[in-house]
Amino acid sequence: MRRVNVDSPAGRLTGAAASGMAQARGPLIRTALPGPRSRALLARQSERESNARSYPRRIPVAIKRGRGPFVEDEDGNVFIDFLGGAGVLALGHSHPELVAAVQRQAAELTHGLDFPTAAKDEFTTKLLGLFPDEMRRTSRIHFCGPTGANAIEAAIKLCKRATGAGEVVAFEGGFHGMTHAALAVSGERALRAEVANVMPGVRFFPFAYCHRCPLGLRPQSCDTNCAGYLERALSDSHSGIGKPAAVLLELVQGEGGTVAAPPEFVRRVRDVTARLDIPLIVDEVQTGCGRTGRWFAFEHYGIKPDVVVLSKMLSGIGTPAAVIVYHEQLDRWQPGSHTGTFRGNQLAFAAGSAFIDIVARDRILENVRDRGRQARDRIEQVRRRSGGVISEVRCFGLMVGVEFSKPGTGEPWGGAASAVQREAFQRGLILEIGGRHDCVVRMLPPLNITEATLDTALTIFAQAVDAALAEELGGAA
Ligand code: PLP
Repeated sequence: MRRVNVDSPAGRLTGAAASGMAQARGPLIRTALPGPRSRALLARQSERESNARSYPRRIPVAIKRGRGPFVEDEDGNVFIDFLGGAGVLALGHSHPELVAAVQRQAAELTHGLDFPTAAKDEFTTKLLGLFPDEMRRTSRIHFCGPTGANAIEAAIKLCKRATGAGEVVAFEGGFHGMTHAALAVSGERALRAEVANVMPGVRFFPFAYCHRCPLGLRPQSCDTNCAGYLERALSDSHSGIGKPAAVLLELVQGEGGTVAAPPEFVRRVRDVTARLDIPLIVDEVQTGCGRTGRWFAFEHYGIKPDVVVLSKMLSGIGTPAAVIVYHEQLDRWQPGSHTGTFRGNQLAFAAGSAFIDIVARDRILENVRDRGRQARDRIEQVRRRSGGVISEVRCFGLMVGVEFSKPGTGEPWGGAASAVQREAFQRGLILEIGGRHDCVVRMLPPLNITEATLDTALTIFAQAVDAALAEELGGAA
């Protein structure tokens, strides 16, 4: 099997070849940041675009082009990009083989509603082929509108229709998107507060966020009581809740701060939902397509969900697509129950088929597992000398989270995480933050990142932590 230089910045492409990025092996910062051209575009954006715009407020840059793990801004500065379009760019920016697949398909057919096409048929075969045998044999797929949130809406509708029930169980800390129902099943209060009276009928239960146990337990006193609480509420004749249409679970909460549910929690949630015949929807919008080192996060847990929701990395290159894959017994909705104009993105299907082939050929999942271990070892070193300010390092394949806590109180310390994001940006590394009070620095590198580029990024991260803590602790003193 051929092992290619997986994250080369693909300088063969025109445009990139002419830029500093063609030779990039690390960041290259040429101007004060943001540079003058970025500054001008950011100013124009703030004059004309909505107040709801978000990423450029924290990461002030105007992006010109991207290749592999790198992006170049309008001023010629090159960054390592660990935001990756919010975990979308599985093989980094503009992987040449995916670009070629998109270009070939663009000349043939781009938009196909939900008609069968050769590109869709091939993609469907390849995608379903990634599911465990039994699931594949009993599954149906529905192509949704192109976002994760739209697929969440579809999953909820499917289960409500199939069960006739009206309520949904969701978990604290979960994030499922920004449309009305997706927001209603998401935990973040600040987002929910934007909308009066979000969709009713959602019951939140504690998620096994053991680092800050929602039930105040310690490992010695814990018997996965959060799962026990759900079990009792669903089985108790006097719990005050009816049988829900679905239980919706993010196995590794991404926006919630990269928090993986412990296996025992997931096993018990699956057991109780199976016993009571409640569909279990697993939201793999962020964890799916290899992010955790297996195609699907549910494979780590040895469970079979009833509905799997996929989007972000499906095409590998950011051409949008979203699907739900579900047990055929749930397929009781009527023709046209979940239509949408943009459900037939042929460019996404062509790229997605090529992406699946490349992952197998280049042993990308192995790389995810190896690089995940590399990240954990290196960040653990940073944690050990952080004086407890880094309170936990969480790596699930290449879903990486580093939680910051206030000295003394141990409360979530969003100020420190934001300072790390700022300092890293100044040094040429783009990071994400999330979790409670934004206290978690998050990394979503391309799955094909090389050892050397990851090492460079982690060196910058370590420097950024030192600078941020000097700044924040100095300010606090
Ligand atoms: N579900 C999860 C787990 C997500 O992380 C996200 C987005 O970050 C969504 C759903 C919503 O996806 P989209 O932003 O494409 O609507």
